[in-house]
Amino acid sequence: MTVAKIIDVTRSFLTGKIETQALRGINLEIQQGEFTALVGPSGSGKTTLLQLIGCLDQPTSGSVIINGTDVSKLSRSQRADIRRGTIGYVFQFFALIPTLNAYENIEMPLLLTGVNASERHERVITLLESVGLSHREKNRPDQMSGGEQQRVAIARALATKPSMILADEPTANLDSKNGEAIMELMTRLNQETGVTFVFATHDQRVIKFSKRIVTLQDGLIVSDQP
Ligand code: ADP
Ligand code: MG
Repeated sequence: MTVAKIIDVTRSFLTGKIETQALRGINLEIQQGEFTALVGPSGSGKTTLLQLIGCLDQPTSGSVIINGTDVSKLSRSQRADIRRGTIGYVFQFFALIPTLNAYENIEMPLLLTGVNASERHERVITLLESVGLSHREKNRPDQMSGGEQQRVAIARALATKPSMILADEPTANLDSKNGEAIMELMTRLNQETGVTFVFATHDQRVIKFSKRIVTLQDGLIVSDQP
């Protein structure tokens, strides 16, 4: 099953009078269950492409089809609905809510999507266990290591049972041991739950774990290798 289909997509940004063509004609299909890295030098368009797949942005031209729906034609709020139901996001700087503990951070997307209290509790407990952080339930982000914070962020991204997790430079702020552990965790979650992972990265550790490598250069895909 195709979870994301990108057809002839361009994305330009206008800064004053200067136009930057971040993406110059992208065609890409992502199938359910993939574990794929978008790689390429800084400025090649990785984040821009990930944000389009994640319904956080819209293309200048072309189409973005997510689970069969053309999201490039939808309003902002319709896109937000699609995003909440199907996509989990993991960021370079973890982006946890600093005043909430690990349990509450993972629970947040479930509160926002109206999941009932007993179901919320069960899912959060299960997720804490599956990312190996049951003992950190009550800790706030500043009481956890970078690796632990990223594991909370991954559990939070999985909470709404998305079909796809998009991770932008997920290991960039982790040392080599924690970076490797995060990749092992995401590999296991991919195998156990079949959730699709797409990374934007230039980290060799991420590339090593990925099953498909899509290389971008100057806003174009220059290679796509299994
Ligand atoms: P990468 O993630 O591969 O480093 P990006 O997708 O962030 O690349 O950026 C691709 C190009 O688009 C760069 O030249 C960047 O400066 C430009 N760009 C990205 N986002 C914006 C924006 N919001 N406004 C203006 N230019 C942008
Ligand atoms: Mg980037």
